[in-house]
Amino acid sequence: MEAREHNGTSFYAYLEDNRLMGSRCGSCRALHVPPRPLCPTCYGDEMSWEEMSGTGELVAFTTVHIGPTAMIAAGYDRHNPYCAGIVRLSEGPTVSGQIIGVDPSDPESIAIGTRLRATYVKRGYDTGTFLAFEPLD
Ligand SMILES: [Zn+2]
Repeated sequence: MEAREHNGTSFYAYLEDNRLMGSRCGSCRALHVPPRPLCPTCYGDEMSWEEMSGTGELVAFTTVHIGPTAMIAAGYDRHNPYCAGIVRLSEGPTVSGQIIGVDPSDPESIAIGTRLRATYVKRGYDTGTFLAFEPLD
């Protein structure tokens, strides 16, 4: 794969390309997202990149009224909360990200188990790309 171009913190470089990548351990086959340089299961270091489909389901979430600086800069505050979720990917690992396309002001409308797909949010004030998820339907 393209490991020579994408090493270190390159998970984020892949996000720029709208790709969600994990690392697969060559020893125990465990899959981690975001990638890890060392396998936390067996301490193996033969990790290889593996692209995720980007689909998954919501396993936990919270609505955030007072977020970190980057989210405040993006316009979120106690009058405009956002939803932060944990998503179990179709491939198995869980990953955190903003959940968009739901109503954070009405948490009871957000259902655990909702089918989601990854989306890649580019915010105007920053060059970074943020991982988010939105409902499939
Ligand atoms: Zn391992």
